[in-house]
Amino acid sequence: MDYADIVKRFGTSSTIFMTTSEARRGMERALSHTRTRVSTSAKVAARKIRGGRLRGMRVLAHMNTARWGSMSTADREEAIQCPCQCGIQNVEHVLTGECDYVLVYIDEMIDSVDYALCSETEAAQSKWMAARNVEEKVVAVIGMETRGVSPDALSEVASALKLLVRRAETALRTVNKAGESWPMDSLAVWAPGSDGPQMELQIDMVPEDQQMVAA
Ligand SMILES: [Zn+2]
Repeated sequence: MDYADIVKRFGTSSTIFMTTSEARRGMERALSHTRTRVSTSAKVAARKIRGGRLRGMRVLAHMNTARWGSMSTADREEAIQCPCQCGIQNVEHVLTGECDYVLVYIDEMIDSVDYALCSETEAAQSKWMAARNVEEKVVAVIGMETRGVSPDALSEVASALKLLVRRAETALRTVNKAGESWPMDSLAVWAPGSDGPQMELQIDMVPEDQQMVAA
């Protein structure tokens, strides 16, 4: 099963994040979920990952601005590059182990879930154990079957997921802000050089809270 199929299967019943419908509006996915055994806050965390809407990500900050429409392709690419220089800062980049800023937090989430599930039944662990890399582990925790998992383990898994999202959002805010703190007037000076903070070239002068659509 490839990644796209795994993602499509997120919404099966009895998952931590249970979805009953998915609607597409432009580039956004609207998701809805119904009752499950985990807290709303854990579902919100899972929903952010599944919907690709981690707060502070550059793709969200830039693509929702009025200016986006008038930017060239090169400018767009530059604007949504992650400061780690490893790719476009979207949820796949941030949560599949590609982004150095977040990898350590994903590793900690994986350790926590390993620990939480180690005394559970084999059936409860099977999907988690079958996930072989960071990307699959993140997918597995979001799509975890809650049937047959003890309430204690479930709550630990939910906490690990919430903590990951919180830390990822904080990390993104910090690294992106560091890039955007340079004075606008100096941009022309930096533009020709290849060294220096190139990512500052396409900063939108829109207050942060308007750049984000509610996650
Ligand atoms: Zn990155």
